[in-house]
Amino acid sequence: MNTEKNLGNWIKELAGEYPLMIAGPCSAETEEQVLSTAKAMKDKRIQVYRAGVWKPRTRPGNFEGHGEKALPWLKKVKEETGMKIAIEIANAEHAALALNYDIDILWIGARTSVNPFAVQEIANAIQGTDKIILIKNPVNPDLGLWIGAVERFYKVGMKNIGVIHRGFSSFRPGNYRNDPQWPIALDFKTKYPHIPMIIDPSHICGRRDCIQDMAQKALDLKYDGFMIETHIHPDKAWSDAKQQITPLRLLEIIEDLNLRKQNFQDPQILNQIQFYRSRIDELDNELLELLAERMNLAKQIGELKKEKNVAVLQRKRWADIMLKAKQKGISLGLSEKFINRIFNSIHQESIENQEKIFKI
Ligand code: PEP
Ligand code: MN
Repeated sequence: MNTEKNLGNWIKELAGEYPLMIAGPCSAETEEQVLSTAKAMKDKRIQVYRAGVWKPRTRPGNFEGHGEKALPWLKKVKEETGMKIAIEIANAEHAALALNYDIDILWIGARTSVNPFAVQEIANAIQGTDKIILIKNPVNPDLGLWIGAVERFYKVGMKNIGVIHRGFSSFRPGNYRNDPQWPIALDFKTKYPHIPMIIDPSHICGRRDCIQDMAQKALDLKYDGFMIETHIHPDKAWSDAKQQITPLRLLEIIEDLNLRKQNFQDPQILNQIQFYRSRIDELDNELLELLAERMNLAKQIGELKKEKNVAVLQRKRWADIMLKAKQKGISLGLSEKFINRIFNSIHQESIENQEKIFKI
């Protein structure tokens, strides 16, 4: 799969000089909502209209999609606006219906790409067609599972393949609905540079106000396009209301992304610098989160030491930590001086935190 250079040709054919933009509502709710959203989005920089026809809901009882009833509405969108149509399919029956209604792009949702049986069933159902298949990352942060899902489509002979980065479930409460975990997506990109990767800022952010920044970041990281949930009346949406934006806002975001691109003086070098800076920002964030987590553990140890009346400073333990850190750090190419400085500073902070606990 990594030597197959043609897997991503579809994206240039579809998007030309622009990044690919797939936009549309989370769910197809009514014919009126589907068509009015589509008409308000008509713009040459939006090539594909998305809508969920079958909705995978975490709990039963929420709106689960109209199913086949909504497919003629999407056909109308195609006829009236010229946009291609994308829907999510989650089993062989959905696949057959999507083929019947000549849907152009099929995507595999994050709750389906975790399941090799479902993925294989869908791959078998669409093999032999020239449909574009986009595979969202699985909900859990498992690169192998994501690659495996893509391979199942490649192995049945699908020729037009792409992936969607929509973030991962995380037990740590964070800023995002789904943690982007950039290293996993970037690993995928490095392994399979010919498979287009698009970002789904809506499901990563889970709220409107971070969509623009997330889209810009992906552009800086050389993603090939976007999937952004867009609804004519976002606040009234039957699913994912908080993260959907109006068609007008979508056009503003596109305008802004394009403008920034044109401002580059030497696009190649600036792009490269941006790429590294974005990664550094991410890593800095992770460093801070890890440091905070480490300090919290040290505080818990502090509580125990206080309870059992044990001295804060344990020289032997500290000497062991330092030794291990130096060995590991040096093997990774870091200087001994640097490791000394960092670890002494971390140690100092831990001790100060524990001493504060003793004083309480
Ligand atoms: C969606 O795109 O509406 C959707 C359900 O996404 P995900 O599979 O990423 O949760
Ligand atoms: Mn959604």
